[in-house]
Amino acid sequence: MVSRVIPVEPFDLVIFGGTGDLARRKILPGLFRRYCAGQIPDGSMIIGAARGDHDAGEFRTLVTEAVQEFGGGRTCEDGTLDAFLAMIDYVTVDARGDTGWAELATKVRKELVNAFYFSVGPGLFGDLAERLQRFDMADDDSRIVVEKPFGRDLETAKALNASLAKHFDETQIYRIDHYLGKETVQNLMAVRFGNMLFEPLWNSQYVDHIQITVAETVGVSGRGGYYDKSGAMRDMVQNHLMQLLCLIAMEPPAKFDPDAVRDEKLKVIRALEPVEPHHIVRGQYSAGDDEADYRTHVEDPSSKTESFIAMKMAISNWRWAGTPFYLRTGKRLKARTSDITVVFKDAPHSIFGAKAGQHNNELRIRLQPNEGMTLDVTIKEPGPGGMRLVDVPLDMSFAEALGPDAADVPDAYERLIMDVIRGNQTLFMRGDEVEAAWAWTDLIIEGWQARADVPKPYDALSEGPTDAMAMIARDGRIWRPIKT
Ligand code: NAD
Repeated sequence: MVSRVIPVEPFDLVIFGGTGDLARRKILPGLFRRYCAGQIPDGSMIIGAARGDHDAGEFRTLVTEAVQEFGGGRTCEDGTLDAFLAMIDYVTVDARGDTGWAELATKVRKELVNAFYFSVGPGLFGDLAERLQRFDMADDDSRIVVEKPFGRDLETAKALNASLAKHFDETQIYRIDHYLGKETVQNLMAVRFGNMLFEPLWNSQYVDHIQITVAETVGVSGRGGYYDKSGAMRDMVQNHLMQLLCLIAMEPPAKFDPDAVRDEKLKVIRALEPVEPHHIVRGQYSAGDDEADYRTHVEDPSSKTESFIAMKMAISNWRWAGTPFYLRTGKRLKARTSDITVVFKDAPHSIFGAKAGQHNNELRIRLQPNEGMTLDVTIKEPGPGGMRLVDVPLDMSFAEALGPDAADVPDAYERLIMDVIRGNQTLFMRGDEVEAAWAWTDLIIEGWQARADVPKPYDALSEGPTDAMAMIARDGRIWRPIKT
């Protein structure tokens, strides 16, 4: 496979919060990898802007360490890091005061494409947006990138949208959900809409149900304070799982264009039924394998925040009426994996008799690790002894199928940052999409609060609470195993 790097014009990128954890782990190493790939042209500038009182030299040291620690092993020619560092600058700014803004304004070149990455808490988004305009750094072509969490309910999301809308048009706002930058997530669209094979079967007539699982083995140690105010519903379901659901369930957009795609995703969210209480299981992990239980890591020893959630969702439209979607996500589960399984219906009549057993096709889409797809196909078990059927996987690991270059695809952050520079909003969430997702989420959370719902305990490194198994078993179905 030939790796294609689409060139961009020189640009200025300001990273507010450039000294923070996200910048060090993802944004700066990602930019370096794009530089190595030849995608960041000479003449571009990357300017860290944060509260810390550093000079450019100190920030370059931080960048060097971030690249060395989190650079992901890309081998670049000698001298590349020095050339990259020559593009790096730093300004001390206070998002809430006037410190540093006049200096920053002298560095940002309005004649180039410029983008401003808000890698800071959402409480600062409005302040940054206002100052970018007041200090005359932005024009109609400037872009701002904002991180999750985008609000904690509909009201706060609306307030954030309004604070940004005062200063920037919706076409300039890039709300990141890094799941949308994953290679396989985009492949989902390629598979659905680039092949004749799947789309005719992609509906309730042929699909029995769909499962989406995002499982982590890590707990909340070190992030308990943040996580306990959020929980699996706000931290994962409202954004990442909802986005996956939308891409799996949406109608084919007329073209692969930002608003066409996002219009279709929005229709899915608006067609979601409210979830019945008995179709949701919340869990909290217990101690195990040298790590303490959930409540040990958070301030409130009687916390009712969920570290696991499983739910059955229904989409009320012609395509999906009658096909349930089962979503599951949690911490301290058996394996770190994200996958989607499309379970097709049984053949209407088995000509091979009861002995051959029940068989159906399943399409599994693995987002991580080992991105790829598997389609289970029923065949005859080889050898004599009659017609015994067996399911075998047609396995397509992208790394194997597409050669070494496939393992070197840009990670989600790299791809999304370059999309910002190219001005392509397709893989970013639109304001109305985020608000619709919160409106649906709020109803569920309000229900828990009204019922004083308490999450069920589950064993660390298990598949979650037994109630989650019971919920799907009531429908005569089972969860696919959580495994890598
Ligand atoms: P962090 O606390 O590590 O860094 C915060 C940065 O913001 C620092 O550079 C700090 O100097 C700067 N800052 C804080 N107050 C400021 C002010 N008044 N003026 C100017 N700069 C100020 O945070 P982080 O983990 O890097 O997260 C940044 C944002 O990204 C948050 O909204 C977070 O929720 C989100 N996010 C982080 C991660 C992650 O993996 N760290 C993942 C997804 C989303």
